[in-house]
Amino acid sequence: MLEPSTPVQYVKGIGPRLAEVLAAKGIATVDDLLHYLPFRYEDRLNPRSVAELRAGEMATVIAEVRNSGLFRTRRMHIFQLTVGQGRTRLKCIWFNAAYLQGRFQAGQMVALYGKVEEDRDGELQIVQPQFEILGDINEEGGAGAAEKEAEKRAAASLEVGRIVPIYESTGQGKLTPRWFRRIIRGALENLNPNLPDAIPAAVRAHLSLVSPREALWKVHWPDAGESFTDLQSSRTPAHIRMIFDELFFIELGLELKRREQKAQTGIAFQLNDGVREAIKKILPFHPTAAQKRVLKEIAADMQTPSPMRRLLQGDVGSGKTIVAFQAAIIAIENGYQVALMAPTEILAQQHYFSARQILERAGYRIVLLTGSLDEDRKRDVRCHIAQGNAQLVIGTHALIQDRVEFEKLGLVVVDEQHRFGVMQRLKLMKKTDETRVVTGLRPVQPGGDARRSTESKPTDPEPDVLVMTATPIPRTLALTLYGDLDLSVLDELPPGRTPVVTRSVPDERAPEVWDFVRKQIGAGHQAYVVYPVIEENPAKTEEREVKAAEQMHRQLRDKIFPNLHVGLLHGRLDAGTKEHIMREFQQGKIEILVATTVIEVGVDVPNATVMVIEHADRFGLAQLHQLRGRIGRGAAKSYCVLMRGGKVSEEGERRLDAMVRSNDGFQIAELDLELRGPGEFFGTKQAGIPSFRVANIIRDRQLLEAAKREAAFVISGPNAEIPKEEIDRALREMRSRWALSYGLVEVG
Ligand code: ADP
Ligand code: MG
Repeated sequence: MLEPSTPVQYVKGIGPRLAEVLAAKGIATVDDLLHYLPFRYEDRLNPRSVAELRAGEMATVIAEVRNSGLFRTRRMHIFQLTVGQGRTRLKCIWFNAAYLQGRFQAGQMVALYGKVEEDRDGELQIVQPQFEILGDINEEGGAGAAEKEAEKRAAASLEVGRIVPIYESTGQGKLTPRWFRRIIRGALENLNPNLPDAIPAAVRAHLSLVSPREALWKVHWPDAGESFTDLQSSRTPAHIRMIFDELFFIELGLELKRREQKAQTGIAFQLNDGVREAIKKILPFHPTAAQKRVLKEIAADMQTPSPMRRLLQGDVGSGKTIVAFQAAIIAIENGYQVALMAPTEILAQQHYFSARQILERAGYRIVLLTGSLDEDRKRDVRCHIAQGNAQLVIGTHALIQDRVEFEKLGLVVVDEQHRFGVMQRLKLMKKTDETRVVTGLRPVQPGGDARRSTESKPTDPEPDVLVMTATPIPRTLALTLYGDLDLSVLDELPPGRTPVVTRSVPDERAPEVWDFVRKQIGAGHQAYVVYPVIEENPAKTEEREVKAAEQMHRQLRDKIFPNLHVGLLHGRLDAGTKEHIMREFQQGKIEILVATTVIEVGVDVPNATVMVIEHADRFGLAQLHQLRGRIGRGAAKSYCVLMRGGKVSEEGERRLDAMVRSNDGFQIAELDLELRGPGEFFGTKQAGIPSFRVANIIRDRQLLEAAKREAAFVISGPNAEIPKEEIDRALREMRSRWALSYGLVEVG
């Protein structure tokens, strides 16, 4: 008898060699095998009669082979197959498919699936259908004659007269859909019938979940009456059970982490009138309603004695910085220090500028700690931090995480988290977790190690953590992947912004574009020209970007805008130069800033109203949106010109099109996710994203939310609805799954 954990090698028909092939597909156990779901189904119970086919539809047809042959046209080979049902006939063609020659014999029954089209004479045909020769087991070979006959009959019974699962073939096509059907069927028949169900009964009842065994059977072998639409959209009860199952245990882990974080000792900041006054005093403008609401959420967290773990999402330009500053004031006024971490040095510097303008003026003491400071200066700054002189420490993540000792750290703000990507965060979760990363910053008394070891207080309160990101994670996803954080959303832009006008323009029209830039500058505005260069080798990308930007800078400065001030900014410049250039741009001394994607995050110069992006088609949507977010920050109308040269891929076109149509970061993020798929969207798989076996976070959003809700419900127990044993069982299952499949984190 097979258990879910049995290695696939022991499933009848697999063996060690094929087990290796399957392992490469991530199928190691019986459980993995049973989670290899059909990607579609064919209705071979009620196949269509050829007579009732209509052009334009997708159809499954079962018919008898009449004849076939290869035709040559001037440009290609066409393989043509004619099948028939009684007197009606249907033509199928494949292009450049010489390999099909000799594959069909008259009299064979075939199942065909594909799009029905009209040929030039108005006759129906199916072009490039997927096909299966029914009862043909020759492709697997090996068996003796009698055995072959028996197998043939068994195989046939899995192939016609029912809804048939179609699996993606794998192992260079060796493992055909038919092979999977036979093997998975066998595995199901030999599976231990008493599969435990780790989902608590109350949750099962809330969602009317079918049992694991029923789900496994029916997802592979649906009942004859099953709705075809539900099958194709993975919405049958069997599918729902399997998808929910996967999501539920992920959410359960996140929920538990969140509880554990909440249970730690944090700091209960006071929010008295004095503090309120201090917060109001720094505001250079009226906050938006969204900013007020979010600050309230943050302040409420900060007042509770458990550590804050909050994600602040807000589209580019929604005004996250000032909210972070306000939170900082709460901590500082309570006598604590604040660390603000930015992903790039340029952004850290910019935060430092604005912090000085807004906070230093109000009397707060701010330091900047970046890699390019010389060693003496760094030592100085570290000393200020350790002694508690510095109240707000701004730096790049790497630097702040590195051996910086605070006298009394109360709040950590992580800006533009998405730049590192979800993957990095999940990696952090894997090794440590946000809390322990912050533990690296745990307050240490000056005097250093000796005192730390003698006086080490395990009860040192955990600082609050606020993570800020400019969208690209749709809300439901944020809720899931950041399920261990609370979520605040800035869903309103400051007043007076007019949406950026975006145009996609071919390179040939560059002269017009430059004319336009000239006019805008004549009107007192400024412009960015961005040179993203994509290269296969990411290590070299920056170098190429720099080269392209340098070259273009020369051309723009000398040839195109000889009378204007054209500056150049890229990551390879030393910090002093970067700072100088940013300041000149901010002060309007530089009118056109040629830059690489270093300006992607955070840069804030409201007077800049034009952004020209070269080779825009090669960039991801999220990145384009981030770049565009550098303009449209003031009251004046802003323009984003997406240049495209040469041949643009279809997907590239769709991205440009999306940019032209939408200014909404959430919409763009969703589209991006759809275009690229979750794997790409979040970066590589190795980066530690849970790779789902059956769930698809785009398609299954609602189940995701349900899973989150139910996970919270389970953790809130035990109670009348869920007994303790059920919770324990669910948690045990969750732990083993997290350890096995997601490998993200050990929970509790
Ligand atoms: P992001 O959310 O992208 O980090 P910023 O915090 O950089 O956005 O804010 C974008 C711009 O909007 C800045 O110039 C900032 O000063 C301005 N800003 C923020 N909030 C308001 C507001 N309530 N009213 C007017 N301008 C605002
Ligand atoms: Mg920002």
